[in-house]
Amino acid sequence: MTEAITSSKEAIELEKKYGAHNYDPIPVVLTRGEGVFFWDIEGKKYYDFLSAYSAVNQGHCHPRIIGALKDQAAELTLTSRAFYNDKLGLAEKYVCETFGYQKCLFMNSGAEGNETGIKLARKWGYTKKGIPENKAIIVAAKKNFHGRTTTVISASTDPKAQIGFGPFMPGFEIVDYDSIPALEKSLSNPNVCALWIEPIQGEAGVFVPSDGYLKAAETICRKNNVLLMMDEIQTGIARTGKMLASDHENVRPDLLILGKALSGGVLPISLVMADDEVMMVMGPGEHGSTFGGNPLAAAVIMEALQVIKDEKLAENAMRLGKIFRERMQALIKKSKLVELVRGKGLLNAIVINDSPQSKTAWNICLELAKNGLLAKPTHGNIIRFAPPLVITEDQIHECCDIIEKVILEFTVN
Ligand code: PLP
Repeated sequence: MTEAITSSKEAIELEKKYGAHNYDPIPVVLTRGEGVFFWDIEGKKYYDFLSAYSAVNQGHCHPRIIGALKDQAAELTLTSRAFYNDKLGLAEKYVCETFGYQKCLFMNSGAEGNETGIKLARKWGYTKKGIPENKAIIVAAKKNFHGRTTTVISASTDPKAQIGFGPFMPGFEIVDYDSIPALEKSLSNPNVCALWIEPIQGEAGVFVPSDGYLKAAETICRKNNVLLMMDEIQTGIARTGKMLASDHENVRPDLLILGKALSGGVLPISLVMADDEVMMVMGPGEHGSTFGGNPLAAAVIMEALQVIKDEKLAENAMRLGKIFRERMQALIKKSKLVELVRGKGLLNAIVINDSPQSKTAWNICLELAKNGLLAKPTHGNIIRFAPPLVITEDQIHECCDIIEKVILEFTVN
């Protein structure tokens, strides 16, 4: 073991000196988490209002999930898929029954889940739809966020994600998000194999499309024999008030990509769900991952999803999300600093009335931290609020009180 860190300053200096500078964290150093709370090295307690970008929906260190992790870790952690293990099949059955698909494929990070979806969509396009070899097109949306691999960023429209990292992977076409005419036009191209969208654009700043958009997308996909590939990595697992955000419009994607909260923040697990018609286009040796489908992940995912169901976290997110947005709407009337609030369930954001280049939202987050609530701006002037779904009504009100106090006392420099 190495020596222990004893102060926030020391931890931050170490990361700055030895770590790549690919993040710009809020300057707090956390050492413990339980439920909706974090504690920093100096012992200060905070509400977590990010949930590790919606990976900790079940709350930090949920005892049942940690229990499953410990029990399985003591038995068997990794076999690779060179051999069978006694947990994977059970987890596969569990997730197929939970999400209503014939097959599933386990990976690790969300980006890998999307990469897997891209490969499946393309192979389905060639072998089932009859698209000429190497001509398959995947239609993605402006302002999407699907991860950081070179293929995934090839479909990005964010200059920060792309500049300096080319050349890019061909085969993506970009359309406006939330535009049904744009889908009518691009999906009629016979070389399109999939439409790849998020049901709510989380990283972009919690953009909720108009009611009916997802249903229309599904209908237009069906009409044109195009797969609907839904990235529910951030929106899935009860975050928006239903198990999947697609459920709000009774949409059933052909390819469903999940990640983050599948493990309650304990392990990187991602998952691609599809029926045989799509999943069976890939055979042995055509895709895989050393850690994907390991028995530790299999044990954890079953417990983490069962916690979501047993504790009715989707229902809690739906109910408390409404209260949260009502409180923020009331705040808009009291403060010129907050322009609007948007979201679904407990995936919400407020837009700060200042330019994306200003430091206002960042400085508000620093003040929130001082007052015991951790959140982070996205795209400059948007602050996302996404607490663990185990939060209670009293706690939501207490957090709204903190946000209100900070905003009302805040002065722009
Ligand atoms: N897709 C969406 C919608 C996301 O929000 C994220 C992460 O924030 C990803 C993909 C990438 O997941 P990961 O960071 O696990 O690769």
